[in-house]
Amino acid sequence: MNAMSSQKGNTYLIVDLEATCTDAGEFPRHEMEIIEIGAVAVEGKALAQVGEFEAFVRPVRNPLLTEFCTRLTSITQAEVEAADPFPVVNDRFRAWVGGFASPVFCSWGNYDRNQFLQDCAHHRVPYPFPTDYHINIKARFAKRQGIGKSVGMKKALQLAGLPLEGTHHRGIDDARNMVRLMPYIFGQARLGRQKS
Ligand code: AMP
Ligand code: MG
Repeated sequence: MNAMSSQKGNTYLIVDLEATCTDAGEFPRHEMEIIEIGAVAVEGKALAQVGEFEAFVRPVRNPLLTEFCTRLTSITQAEVEAADPFPVVNDRFRAWVGGFASPVFCSWGNYDRNQFLQDCAHHRVPYPFPTDYHINIKARFAKRQGIGKSVGMKKALQLAGLPLEGTHHRGIDDARNMVRLMPYIFGQARLGRQKS
């Protein structure tokens, strides 16, 4: 499934990245690298799903995943070793993004945008989105629902009374769960009265 939808306005690309990480200072934050790109495209008033992208990425700066990282994300060393490096996957992702007439990069917080900028700079490859425009749907969710402080995706699902589906901290599953929150961000859905 892909684009063909120029007349309908924006296509929201809900993107969630997983990256190399450590809880013990093995390497600095600025050396984190994308290991999974998960993305779902939705559009129209109905926020209908019109596409999905999912790929693992082989890290090159710190190629061995930490135990912590595999525990957090469930992504294994074998999975990333079998994957293409960032420039190759980024080209495929950029082609997927380019299939939409007006793609809008959305992610839960600003982390995913910053991580893309970091990996693109390191590998000297083009940023995959046609403009710098980015929507922080974490902030939008909090504002739209009037909950004051922004919350994590897991908490947002809880507030909406939605079970977390799939595996938390897997890019594609996180992105699919964010899509289930889209009616609360761009649509008319309102949270119930439950607090905290
Ligand atoms: P998420 O989208 O919440 O699954 O997180 C994206 C990436 O951020 C993960 O793949 C990790 O690289 C990093 N990350 C998330 N949570 C933590 C954490 N508690 N400690 C260290 N890194 C984390
Ligand atoms: Mg994630």
